[in-house]
Amino acid sequence: MANNITFTMIKPDAVRANNIGPILSMMTEAGFRIKAMKYTHLNKDTAGKFYEVHKERPFYGELVDFMSSGPIVAAILEKDNAVEDFRKLIGSTNPAEADEGTIRKQYATSIGENAVHGSDSDENAKIEGDFFFNNLEVF
Ligand code: ATP
Ligand code: MG
Repeated sequence: MANNITFTMIKPDAVRANNIGPILSMMTEAGFRIKAMKYTHLNKDTAGKFYEVHKERPFYGELVDFMSSGPIVAAILEKDNAVEDFRKLIGSTNPAEADEGTIRKQYATSIGENAVHGSDSDENAKIEGDFFFNNLEVF
């Protein structure tokens, strides 16, 4: 069971651009199975809590404003080697450095507005999934 889940968000920029459908297609075509999903809108407090690890970074305020600027899609995804494979699928944080064929290459517009989130470790995948979903919402 270890190493087989990750957590993602389709961020407000990609939702505004009407790219939920194509981004979900890229995820499922890459072999990720949706275990949980919701369409929601983070307020500043919740966005701030989610990204608390970045509290000391200079872009924290901007990040919290952006992540609370519109609705998002949150999901838990399942696949072997989920965290690492999903980070490969989304590409570099800065879309200018993202490889061809990655979600950020195709749909991100800047380092701040970069279309999707992906967990960076198994431990954080669990913490982030639990932040959004209870037991009755995960299948
Ligand atoms: P995420 O955690 O959203 O998947 P990431 O792991 O690729 O992204 P992090 O270093 O965790 O990148 O940064 C979290 C988010 O903060 C980035 O996705 C981006 O939206 C924002 N961010 C990171 N660096 C910058 C920056 N230099 N300027 C503005 N925003 C930034
Ligand atoms: Mg990160």
